[in-house]
Amino acid sequence: MLTKVIAKQLCPFLLFLLLFFCGCNNEKDDVKPGPDRKLNVVSTIGMITDVLHNVGGDRIDVTGIIGEGIDPHLYKPTARDTKILKAADVIFYNGLHLEVRITGTVFDKMKDKAKAIAVTDGMDRKRLRETPEFIGGYDPHVWHDVSLWMVATEKIRDTLSLKDSHNAEYYRSNAKNYLAELKSLHHEVQTLSAQIPIKRRVLVTTHDAFGYLGKAYGFEVRGLIGINTEDEVSIADVRELAQYIIDNGIPTMFVETSSPPRGIMSVQAAVKANGYNVKIGGGLFSDAMGTPGTPEGTYIGMMRHNINTIASMLQTELAYKE
Ligand SMILES: [Zn+2]
Repeated sequence: MLTKVIAKQLCPFLLFLLLFFCGCNNEKDDVKPGPDRKLNVVSTIGMITDVLHNVGGDRIDVTGIIGEGIDPHLYKPTARDTKILKAADVIFYNGLHLEVRITGTVFDKMKDKAKAIAVTDGMDRKRLRETPEFIGGYDPHVWHDVSLWMVATEKIRDTLSLKDSHNAEYYRSNAKNYLAELKSLHHEVQTLSAQIPIKRRVLVTTHDAFGYLGKAYGFEVRGLIGINTEDEVSIADVRELAQYIIDNGIPTMFVETSSPPRGIMSVQAAVKANGYNVKIGGGLFSDAMGTPGTPEGTYIGMMRHNINTIASMLQTELAYKE
């Protein structure tokens, strides 16, 4: 009889404890309040925003902070951005010190720092390019290797599924389709790169953004400035690159849509002063995608544009003396 009474009194208490702990866990991992409100997701660079559209579809609200043609190394968040970031359920950013002016200011002051997820966090450090001259020691431009961007896509899929478990199956199914598209894009870039004669597989650009493209698809990459666009271009840098172009007979240099072309134009002038011509090929999308609504306004379209531009321009004749 006494046991029965104790059990009767204990049961509601145990139930309360169970609900309390389940509730805590839910609040931590599953921030979606219910089917009536979509998960409020904010991303920094356009390449991440695009993955979110593909994986999250119409089940999430996405706001991208850094738009077309804007350099993420230099981007300073506005008061409006700060408000948007603070109100987000989850934030996706590239990390590896790419968006250093956002992460170094807004994130540090946020109460709930754990809601900011770096898509590069789960990546095997052995697959990253070590660049001691860059803050943090790794090259952040991982999206130029499609197979690494697939890892970022998996991170986004898993985070959305955890934060909004109600729609987990939907996110997994969308991610499966998108990952299949990325896999075929990776093969496409491999095939086009392999068609360029080995000695012409040299990418000369404004800043060292294409190291992962070089590593994954067999290009040598020479940037006028380092990994960070904040670096200054010196006359010595221009002369050294001009000499390299002449010595190796590089036919084309490339400008980047999110960096000013001035430096590359100085190199062209320096090559010309030595009696050689080097072309400036079409613009490559390095750190930002193209206009929304155009093929280049998507990650897949941007990568396709880059490899097609590179492959067609490097098929031309080597630099020649006038
Ligand atoms: Zn960059």
